[in-house]
Amino acid sequence: MISDALVARLCDRVAASTSDTFSTVNVFTGGTLAKVPRSSPEDVAEAVEAARKAQQVWAGVAVADRIPVFERFHALLLKHTEEILDILQAETGKSRKDGFLEVSAPLVTVGHYARKAPKLLAPQRRQGMLPGLVKTRELRVPKGVVGTITPWNYPFALAFMDIIPALIAGNGVVLKPDTQTALCTLFGVDLLYQAGLPQGLLQVVIGDGPVVGTALVDTADYIGFTGSTRTGREIAARAGQRLVGYSLELGGKNPLLVLADANVHQAAVGAVQTCFSNSGQLCMSPERLFVHTAVYDDFVQRFLNEVKRMNLAAAYDYSADMGSLTSQRQLETVIKHVEDARAKGATVLTGGKARPELGPFFYEPTVLTDVTPEMLCYDNETFGPVVSIYRVADDTEAVERANATSYGLNASVFSKSIAHGEHVAAQLKAGTVHINDGHVVGLGSADAPMGGMKDSGVGRRNGAEGLLKYTESQNISVQRVPLTTPPRWLPFGWYVKSMQGLLRLIRRSNIR
Ligand code: NDP
Repeated sequence: MISDALVARLCDRVAASTSDTFSTVNVFTGGTLAKVPRSSPEDVAEAVEAARKAQQVWAGVAVADRIPVFERFHALLLKHTEEILDILQAETGKSRKDGFLEVSAPLVTVGHYARKAPKLLAPQRRQGMLPGLVKTRELRVPKGVVGTITPWNYPFALAFMDIIPALIAGNGVVLKPDTQTALCTLFGVDLLYQAGLPQGLLQVVIGDGPVVGTALVDTADYIGFTGSTRTGREIAARAGQRLVGYSLELGGKNPLLVLADANVHQAAVGAVQTCFSNSGQLCMSPERLFVHTAVYDDFVQRFLNEVKRMNLAAAYDYSADMGSLTSQRQLETVIKHVEDARAKGATVLTGGKARPELGPFFYEPTVLTDVTPEMLCYDNETFGPVVSIYRVADDTEAVERANATSYGLNASVFSKSIAHGEHVAAQLKAGTVHINDGHVVGLGSADAPMGGMKDSGVGRRNGAEGLLKYTESQNISVQRVPLTTPPRWLPFGWYVKSMQGLLRLIRRSNIR
């Protein structure tokens, strides 16, 4: 399905000077999928320099003239969706349904910034210090070379949702994807070049995070990172040493609230869709369900019915509802969390076991109750198909327990009353809150920024912020007549009095 010729062509895009390789795994079978090149720290330095050279030309291209490259990329993504899905599924083990949603996300990003970027990046007239006498403009200058580091769970979406605004803003990019999922990312990079991206502007390096990722953090002019909170802290510390900017999209332990007035069927269906997307290996997936006591029994029954109907399969078509976990490491974490909970008294309502007959890393969607604070899955991110349900007496308890976590990425609220849902949403400490949905509509609303509060991140993707973070603002102010240096003949005390008079006049006229 993925030919050797294709792998060789994609691997040619990697900045790697030696013949060292990594083997990646075909997740559905456990066999070897491909050998991908290994970059060294020296390769990273060269990639950054090459991107910098190309960026100096790209920065001189008008924003409106950069956009057509991304419009053509959009068309190529639509044309090659099935090939991307084949690689994505082999590398991650996700169902094709989940893969389709993933590949669609960058389409939204392109559509949004193609429309909005020219205006957002255009020089803005600002009020000068003194009306008429000072002219001030704010320019948006690209950072230079952006280092983008991405994880394995949504490798295609997370890479291109971040790369596209960085490039549109006039930057070069050096991308370090997770090694296991490098091929699907390289396929997208290849499409960007087919779409007319200037050669050298987007570089790819592959290697262990602590080696190649660190080299990138130590050389790029800005870091865009998606991954674990632990690595995010390390990157922030290193970037802080160099005083370069960064944005961090990190982990979550997301709550889903079913209020007393929820449409219980809609909540059960919506919860299944969001909790088990990509086998729960989605930073926005809920792992904690807080259900109002008035609808608790009804919700649990319907939720379990929906979970039990899910079709698990290693299928390269749209028949499976859920695919595999991506790695042995992830499978071990899930088993550890479930066994720990079981041993400490949790009740497994459904699931709770691996399914090796389907593939080496399959695990059943699992629903727990009676989960208590001493259990690992209570407040640690499992990042797998495991959710815990808690009964709550009222909204106040639901909100308090939802917020009782160090994370603050995403939350969901189900209620028939939009006003009620919005009232509760405003009390939740999460960067995104979905009402009557799990995670899709906020992600797809690219006009609004999204990201994490608390330990879930710094900075935002999407919205104006998701583009402008890749720029420096520059204030250019023109003194039209000499104001700051009084004429020699004027005693300085008189100058002070006249300036104070002017400031008083401006204040009274409410211009400032
Ligand atoms: P990691 O932090 O382990 O790795 C993410 C990326 O960072 C990988 O490319 C990795 O390389 C690299 N890396 C690892 N160590 C370093 C380092 N010291 N310096 C620079 N780069 C490094 O995360 P996971 O792969 O485990 O990804 C899962 C996590 O990501 C979960 O916590 C999840 O919640 C979070 N996530 C957050 C999202 C969001 O938008 N908020 C979206 C998706 C996931 P290598 O390939 O060598 O591991």
